Amino acid sequence: MITVEKALETILAQIRVLGSERIDILGSRGRVLAEDIVSGLDVPPHDNSSMDGYAVRHTDIADAVADKPVQLKITGDLPAGYISREILQPGQALRIMTGAPVPQGADTVIMQENTTAQGSTVAILQGEKAGANIRRAGEDIKKGALLFPAGTVVRPAHIGIMASIKRAMVSVYQRPRVAILSTGDELVDIDGKLGPGKIVSSNSYSLMSLVAEAGGTPIMLGIARDTKDALRARLLEGLHADIIISSGGVSVGDYDYVKDVLQELGADMKFWKVLMRPGQPLAFGVIGDKPAFGLPGNPVSAMVSFEQFVRPAMRKMSGHTKLFRRPIEAVAQQDVPGRPGRKFFVRCRLTQKDGQWFASTTGEQGSGILMSMAEASGLMAIPADVSGVSAGDRVSVQVLDPELGYSETVNY
Ligand code: AMP
Ligand code: MG
Repeated sequence: MITVEKALETILAQIRVLGSERIDILGSRGRVLAEDIVSGLDVPPHDNSSMDGYAVRHTDIADAVADKPVQLKITGDLPAGYISREILQPGQALRIMTGAPVPQGADTVIMQENTTAQGSTVAILQGEKAGANIRRAGEDIKKGALLFPAGTVVRPAHIGIMASIKRAMVSVYQRPRVAILSTGDELVDIDGKLGPGKIVSSNSYSLMSLVAEAGGTPIMLGIARDTKDALRARLLEGLHADIIISSGGVSVGDYDYVKDVLQELGADMKFWKVLMRPGQPLAFGVIGDKPAFGLPGNPVSAMVSFEQFVRPAMRKMSGHTKLFRRPIEAVAQQDVPGRPGRKFFVRCRLTQKDGQWFASTTGEQGSGILMSMAEASGLMAIPADVSGVSAGDRVSVQVLDPELGYSETVNY
């Protein structure tokens, strides 16, 4: 048996970053850039007006005030999307719309609110600093600038910028394809018949969605009966994927063949028991360079083991450098006896008051009680070398629930 820390280290040492693929930028949200993004363009491409108003020569209007306005001759009207071919002369103003390129000769824009126009003349009621209300070429993005280094996790603003520099395709790390097998004679699929002794294979569904949430492509291998032949046939299909995960059949029961079959398929087994609760039976091996995780069958154990080991492995494969759920410090709301000798992951609900996080356990912590996981927004990790946690203790909690990033109230 090995510690959780050692297990994680052993797993990550086997994980290689996948290759890259070129995809449409619209598909790149949440993916990790496999190339530096360098701008081939200035954005904006030309000096342009940030206001609806008049393009003028600063020397003409520097001294304008409301009771001594400067009168200028309007030479034309320039909407966004067009350019003026005239050079603005002294005493002239060009009516200009937001986004339109500032004409040659002009160096300042007066906002419409500070003018009154009459026929072909405009009165400038207020001076401005030279260069006012002009967005400079390259002010947002300079040609040749390194905008986003490889390793950046793409968000919508990145996609907007790539569009503005005409980058339609981008190179990102591949998503891991993760094959998911459930094992057990007691299991039926969601549309199967719940005959005597049968249960729905909920792990197939929780693991499929964990894989998708972690940025992978889940591949459902279905349910294998508890025979070596059935397991072998299904696991062989899984060898097309980047990662294989199974659940169940890794314990010491009479029909727990997963580890044996992985070995028959050529897996180099690194460990099969980890000092943790829930989730002690957990087989890990590599077949060629493919990691294979034999997760425990109990629904909570399967999910907690996924969180501790499979998610970081998947994130490493996809090029992420932040592999782990964010840990926060919280105050425990009740006593929780530990599991000495094992790291204990306690499902808990996180709340925040006056900037302080609080963690209260989500009831019964049995490894078959999946409701404890559904109600949990975090996993409190109680170290193996402590006897437990007392109410009021500070504890470290892994944040599970993305909803914690949202609020019911707005707070400016
Ligand atoms: P095992 O490790 O195969 O002995 O499974 C441990 C427990 O987890 C048993 O009670 C199984 O019925 C249950 N279990 C195993 N696989 C699944 C699954 N795919 N969905 C829900 N429960 C499961
Ligand atoms: Mg079983």
